Amino acid sequence: MTIAIYPGSFDPITNGHLDVAQRAARVFDKVIIGVYDTPEKKLMFSQAERVEMARLAVKNIPNVEVQPYSGLTVGFAHKVKAPVMVRGLRVSADFEFEFDLAMMTNKLSPELEMVCFMASPQYQFLSSSLLKEVARLGGKVDDWVPANVAVEVKKKVSALK
Ligand code: ADP
Repeated sequence: MTIAIYPGSFDPITNGHLDVAQRAARVFDKVIIGVYDTPEKKLMFSQAERVEMARLAVKNIPNVEVQPYSGLTVGFAHKVKAPVMVRGLRVSADFEFEFDLAMMTNKLSPELEMVCFMASPQYQFLSSSLLKEVARLGGKVDDWVPANVAVEVKKKVSALK
């Protein structure tokens, strides 16, 4: 059985992330979405909130689960016995960062293979940061996140006002 981790901030999980998770779930026996606790990003949601939203979003995909983690991603992969790390690649933004990540991961843990899924055309421009920005400015984000996430984003934005 091949387990793949899909690590990230998921602040919050979007339809672009879900698309990658669903496609990875067709290739690997099990996909574990790993929600990193303290990325170097300004977060809208706590780790517990991000995990909860992601769990609800993937509840109908039998071989995808969600776990929080902290520390090195290679440590998380080792802990859950995953030989593969999945990432998503958008054409404009991600290649250089993901390439560096693959090189560093290989140095830290040569047996962990990184597999990138190309973002689907309809999600190429979608990022959690842009989505949060649009939501903060009063824009509608319902088309880009699962329904449960849209509700939480709206709540958070009104609490911030
Ligand atoms: P990180 O903070 O580690 O970059 P993110 O939560 O922003 O984590 O993203 C996790 C992974 O999902 C990254 O590999 C990122 O490139 C990918 N990703 C983000 N948005 C999309 C999208 N719209 N389509 C496909 N992959 C995406």
